[in-house]
Amino acid sequence: MSLVISHLARRFGATQVLRGIDLTVDQGELIALLGPSGSGKTTLLRIIAGLDWPDAGGLSFDGADWLAKSAAERRIGFVFQHYALFPHMTVRDNIAFGLSVLPRSDRPAKAQIASTVDGLLSFLQIEGLADRYPAELSGGQRQRVALGRAMAINPRVLLLDEPFGALDAQVRRDLRRWLRGVHDSAGTTSIFVTHDQEEAFELADRVVVMNGGVIEQTGHPDEIYDHPATSFVARFLGLTV
Ligand code: ADP
Repeated sequence: MSLVISHLARRFGATQVLRGIDLTVDQGELIALLGPSGSGKTTLLRIIAGLDWPDAGGLSFDGADWLAKSAAERRIGFVFQHYALFPHMTVRDNIAFGLSVLPRSDRPAKAQIASTVDGLLSFLQIEGLADRYPAELSGGQRQRVALGRAMAINPRVLLLDEPFGALDAQVRRDLRRWLRGVHDSAGTTSIFVTHDQEEAFELADRVVVMNGGVIEQTGHPDEIYDHPATSFVARFLGLTV
């Protein structure tokens, strides 16, 4: 059940933001999209999510054409940098919300929603936060809850756009470790956007280095570090002077 991206292109006005992206993400992989600001990472993520469409190229999952499917039909979990939790809802209700907006055929019964949410709270080790409101949480706790909400729908693919970008270094490190653990036990297929190479290299099974709308290199972190494929990759990783 892989996600296959082929020759994807996207232009905004005169700016060609994606210039032919080819990438296959396998079931259970954690991929980091790494690159400087403006390299097209978020645009690629938005197209995968069904929030934007390419001018050319294809996107399929498990053999099905995703460009023909709505965002809800794709069943994507999304975590953004800025917490999009509902301030008037408790943690429990925020996590349950994701389930209530699923297409009717995928939506669980009410009683099952409660048990799914309880299961997630415990899986994510945030049981103690269940009845709190977002304003009563730290930044790191809010991102754990945001991940809970994204995972509640049992997403086919989980997309994370600089989810820890607004947090301080120590919290980021803790959350990275926690996310890696959650990812491994849940077996989710995840794509993580970051401009922070330490984050990408520590977290990901494979790192995809983007620059100017193209993929410069894709590979295991060690492989990229030991054998940067282009001078851009070497410079970006600080491997040349
Ligand atoms: P990244 O996530 O790597 O920082 P983005 O995908 O956000 O890169 O943006 C890539 C380029 O596309 C930037 O130059 C940005 O200004 C431009 N861009 C993104 N979305 C739009 C849009 N809706 N309209 C016009 N330009 C856009």
